[in-house]
Amino acid sequence: MKPVKPPRQKTGDEKVPSRTRNKRTPDEKAHKEQTSSDTPPDEQTLNEQTIIAALEEGGAIAKRLDTYEMRQSQLDLMRLVIHGFNYDAIVAAEAGTGVGKSFAYLLPALNHVLLNNKRIVISTATITLQEQLYNKDIPLVLAALGVGIKVVLMKGRGNYLCLRRFDETSREQSFLTDPEYEALKAMNTWIDTTHTGARSDISFPLPDSFWSRVACEADLCMGPHCPERERCFFQALRAQAAVAPVLVVNHHLLFADASARRDGAGYDGMVVLPLYHRVIIDEAHTVEEAATSFFSEQFSRFSIYRQTGRLFRRQRGNLRGLLVLVLPALHAENQLNEIESINQKIRDSADTLDKVALELCKQEGVFRLTPDTDKDIHATLSPLIEDLRSQVQAYTALIKSLLGTSAENEENVIIWEIKAIRKRLESIAQLCRVFIEYQQHPDKVLWLERHNSNGEPWVSFTSTPLNVSTVLKEAIFDPNKTVVCVSATLTVNDTFDYWANRCGLALVDKRQVLCDQFPSPFPYATSVLLAIPTDAPLPQADVPYRDFVNMAAGSLAACVGGSALILFTSYSALESAYNASKTLLEKQGIRCLKQGDDDRSRLLKTFLTEETSVLFATDSFWEGIDAPGDTLRLVILCRLPFRTPNEPVFAARCEDLEQRGGNSFMELSVPEAVMKFKQGFGRLMRRFSDHGVVVVLDTRVIRKRYGKIFLSSLPETKICFANLQTITNKIERFLE
Ligand code: SF4
Repeated sequence: MKPVKPPRQKTGDEKVPSRTRNKRTPDEKAHKEQTSSDTPPDEQTLNEQTIIAALEEGGAIAKRLDTYEMRQSQLDLMRLVIHGFNYDAIVAAEAGTGVGKSFAYLLPALNHVLLNNKRIVISTATITLQEQLYNKDIPLVLAALGVGIKVVLMKGRGNYLCLRRFDETSREQSFLTDPEYEALKAMNTWIDTTHTGARSDISFPLPDSFWSRVACEADLCMGPHCPERERCFFQALRAQAAVAPVLVVNHHLLFADASARRDGAGYDGMVVLPLYHRVIIDEAHTVEEAATSFFSEQFSRFSIYRQTGRLFRRQRGNLRGLLVLVLPALHAENQLNEIESINQKIRDSADTLDKVALELCKQEGVFRLTPDTDKDIHATLSPLIEDLRSQVQAYTALIKSLLGTSAENEENVIIWEIKAIRKRLESIAQLCRVFIEYQQHPDKVLWLERHNSNGEPWVSFTSTPLNVSTVLKEAIFDPNKTVVCVSATLTVNDTFDYWANRCGLALVDKRQVLCDQFPSPFPYATSVLLAIPTDAPLPQADVPYRDFVNMAAGSLAACVGGSALILFTSYSALESAYNASKTLLEKQGIRCLKQGDDDRSRLLKTFLTEETSVLFATDSFWEGIDAPGDTLRLVILCRLPFRTPNEPVFAARCEDLEQRGGNSFMELSVPEAVMKFKQGFGRLMRRFSDHGVVVVLDTRVIRKRYGKIFLSSLPETKICFANLQTITNKIERFLE
């Protein structure tokens, strides 16, 4: 999918029929015949000139920002977005760092709301961007427009306190740990002062274990039957959202709503979100990953303990749990022994399965169900999963018979909760069946993964969709009039093909799609040096390569006086380089920070405030770090970020592609690594005045043919490909 730009924009508030197409696509005539319906136009179009004027010199936005400079790429991006609104198109826009993408989509989106009084949903991957839009960018655009529009920020449901669960936890406080009890006391006061009930408003220490007891959960919500409904934070938020023309949500909420509508909830009222027809998806490069996570299902012995323990447990010699509380009212105390027995059988069965699963994961930490592993599955796994399934099913049947079918207990909080847990157990039983009949589910990746909690190993059993493109097409792209996807990283080798294939956009009629790239206005060509040490061994040479990275990472960070971000692809490589460099750097008064030593946000805060500190990081730190100015002058990308071939979902997707005649390395591994590589590279330049160096310690970028794809996906910079000593000298001169 090569970039396709919109035609010249019409001027004036003309009306256009819905689903009018991009005029530059090849089969214009055929499409016109399809879309020149007699349906009366129902929406006012946006006036490009008026909207663009806000961003031009002296315009409404420009006047409100002291440091604002007009950027051609921002204006071009805005034109594309306006076209997406006026012509009911799907827009994919790669906007380099500094383009100012949020203003470029907010101005058209908010103008569209004003003109047509129709709702817009803006979805992001991270809470950070959600908050930036809600607290800064949207208020600024509304002030510039001189209007007030109701905007509601909806984080994922689990970010809000459930008052009913809090009451329940308060009643069971004798089972809390000391830190949990302290949190409960502090929360009692906080509830009276908070307006949002959001976790982000909490400033007292909050153990995750406590929050998970009191947070909102969709299937545990009693909705209209809840005794706390009138005071409920989440219900109040939903009520506000129902009348708000602008919603800022995250991708999970968007998928929850869109998939429920696609699966039968329909397109005419509130589901998870109120009805909308136009969506902006920011940080769109994460869409496949977010959808994969959203549509995955999982169980483990711990999730089973949690559910069964809430129903029944013996604690310090006493019987506890929701069933124990409810049995007298149901005149069913005589069932206690049976409940205890089946509860124990389930736990025993889950423990046995976990032990065997740990053995299967012993070698690689993961185990995927495939025809190649069929022998192990039949011999060991399937009988144990079947045993667990039948025990769980027996329990859910017993609960069902105990509660009966009458609706008279709808208002009873305990019975509601028991029913919700029963449904969760039924889902686990269903998932067990999917594992047993794995060959009948070629559309799913079924896999086991070993974890470690406080030194105790355990295994998760996960079902992940092999491909999310169809569901995204049907749930997101098909039903909406306009979908604007923006990110700094959507193309590989100047095409959108990889990303469009993965997220379902390639399945959409091309005549409805407009895509384009908007280069960063930052002066990469003069302010950034890209250096590659040609004397680095290839990563295949394990030990020499590791020794080289350990030596080079520390010496390069030392030569620039710190202010470096060193990105790895594995935690073991990170630790090795950290241990090798720490003494050298600390002798120069440079603080070394390591991912895993503190939580992500505190680590980043330290990195930002201690200007010369060096951060050794992996995984999520390849993106989302915004460290402008002298805090970050050197980024070292130690290795090309290829996925390890034994990652089960990735391996399954590669196999699937090969079976369909594709080349998984060139069509999946390389483009995915290029996208991540671009994100890593993008950490350096965050402001126009930034100036620094990116060093790539992996010479495959210059020695392998596919390396060109990595390099050509970066903006033009100064370049130094030489031995490490020469590079070090050059960097010193460049940064002087
Ligand atoms: S309505 Fe739902 S989320 Fe709100 S307090 Fe009740 S159970 Fe919790």
